[in-house]
Amino acid sequence: MDTILLNDSENDLLKAADLIKNGNVVGLPTETVYGLGADSANENAVRAIFTAKGRPADNPLIVHLADFSDAVKYTTSIPELAYKLAERFCPGPLTMVLPKNDRIPMVTSGGLDTVGIRVPSHPVMHRIIELSGCPIAAPSANISGYPSPTTAEHVMRDMQGRVAAVVNGGQSDFGVESTVISFDSDSSVRILRPGAVTQEMLLEVCDNVVIDPAILHEVEEGATVASPGMKYKHYSPKADIIMVESDFESFKSVVDKAYSDGVYTLVFDGDEANCPYRHMSYGSDSLQQAHLLFQRLRELDELGAKKVYVRAPSPEGIGLAVYNRLIRAAGFEVIRI
Ligand code: AMP
Ligand code: MG
Repeated sequence: MDTILLNDSENDLLKAADLIKNGNVVGLPTETVYGLGADSANENAVRAIFTAKGRPADNPLIVHLADFSDAVKYTTSIPELAYKLAERFCPGPLTMVLPKNDRIPMVTSGGLDTVGIRVPSHPVMHRIIELSGCPIAAPSANISGYPSPTTAEHVMRDMQGRVAAVVNGGQSDFGVESTVISFDSDSSVRILRPGAVTQEMLLEVCDNVVIDPAILHEVEEGATVASPGMKYKHYSPKADIIMVESDFESFKSVVDKAYSDGVYTLVFDGDEANCPYRHMSYGSDSLQQAHLLFQRLRELDELGAKKVYVRAPSPEGIGLAVYNRLIRAAGFEVIRI
């Protein structure tokens, strides 16, 4: 299959929407990361997403809608709190797990009786959902296990020859996947995956916001998890990632002992001037770190890095999402000083 690269002109968006309507898989830009989209009701198209990514069949796909009011078509009940959250955060990087109806096939939900619903704000993604008239199932557009793509070029690298087309909608704004929540009660939600909609932001609407323990800790083999994605090796480049939670002086003493061919560091902007090692920076605050993390992990692979020592982000606000992705990229290898 020849993968065509489309742009954000109305003509090309119509082509992308037609491809999706006709059961093809298309790489799509969103404000979080790029996704691999298909008609969520078309089982063969959804299976083709799993095949293109090499994704385990029990890892559910998020279904993307043009407006939250469409959620009633695909779910059996929607709590009042979900509507309040939608008013505040949709369109945007928030996925709500709700009980699904028969219009969402089991392949799409990874065998679960729930479905993650999101209303993306990216104008290209929004327009393609409208033009196709389909609820679009879309996981991140990377090969399973590899860092998520934040540009059309990343998607082309991973998916060339595996999908019908990729739409270039520029670099993803947030750079980390959506916040995924489930409903514990009428006034309480649980964060299953942290993202740009933070615990503090959710507390503006909910009485109680629980952070699932699997976000910061390794899930034991065979354990049942609320969010299947948590069990899998994730976000990992080819290079071995080691996260170092310390000040910059202690970070340097760790790297010093291990520094040899193929060793790189991923540091903050303020460190660069005093960093004597091969290095890259991923910004100075959590928002920039989210925006740049996956891109830097891919760039480090291109440089041929074998081992990368990374300064740990502060797990506050959107930083919790960055921390959560990095600790998984590192396979939970953390040095704390
Ligand atoms: P990705 O599409 O690659 O961003 O991954 C989506 C992630 O969202 C999955 O790996 C799950 O962890 C989570 N997710 C999606 N749908 C559900 C659901 N119905 N219940 C719980 N978690 C979900
Ligand atoms: Mg993913």
